[in-house]
Amino acid sequence: MRQALPMAEGPVAVESWYDSDIDHVIITEEQIRDRITELAKQVAADYASVDRLLLVCVLKGAVMFMADFARALGRCGTPVELEFMAISSYGQGATSSGVVRILKDLDRDIAGRQVIVVEDIVDSGLTLSWLLKYLESRSPGSVEVVALFRKPDAVKVPVPVRYVGFDIASEFVVGYGLDFAERYREMPYVGVLKPEVYTRSLP
Ligand code: 5GP
Repeated sequence: MRQALPMAEGPVAVESWYDSDIDHVIITEEQIRDRITELAKQVAADYASVDRLLLVCVLKGAVMFMADFARALGRCGTPVELEFMAISSYGQGATSSGVVRILKDLDRDIAGRQVIVVEDIVDSGLTLSWLLKYLESRSPGSVEVVALFRKPDAVKVPVPVRYVGFDIASEFVVGYGLDFAERYREMPYVGVLKPEVYTRSLP
């Protein structure tokens, strides 16, 4: 049984099951937290005159980012509403197909609303490019994108991402919502898996 120490002096680093699967860390928990605060301040200033921002989260990868970003905006005094969409583009693999399917649509009308799409990561840009066209067809007042991660080398389709958390190298990463075969989403940091993890996962 793992034992956590008392919390009096802040969170204690306890080794978790996923740590031994990680080859190297790309972005730490602290870096993510600090950058989200900065992004929220920027968005709060840009939308200071807007009544209620509508955040559209793309499940499942962006769920951690959505939760932390919405609360960071709350601390900046910006009222938000949350919407969720689920689309599939990757399946179990690690390369984008560009074929997008809606698994869960918006629950409400976005006509005239100021929308910010909350994305986990922009790789080829194919998914986002499709999503932006889809949202634009629903006549919002405006649509912008905040993406926590972007792989600049991999962009096949130029997509207008107004707010970017981190530009990272073109390698497959997991953690903070990003999965490999539905695992590693709960990691508080982002890293690259050891090569043997992929071999181990083969049937
Ligand atoms: P794109 O269409 O831009 O190539 O891919 C976008 C989606 O693919 C992201 O929203 C994310 O779900 C997934 N994706 C892209 N790169 C990575 C990565 O490095 N790791 C993981 N886990 N998912 C990724």
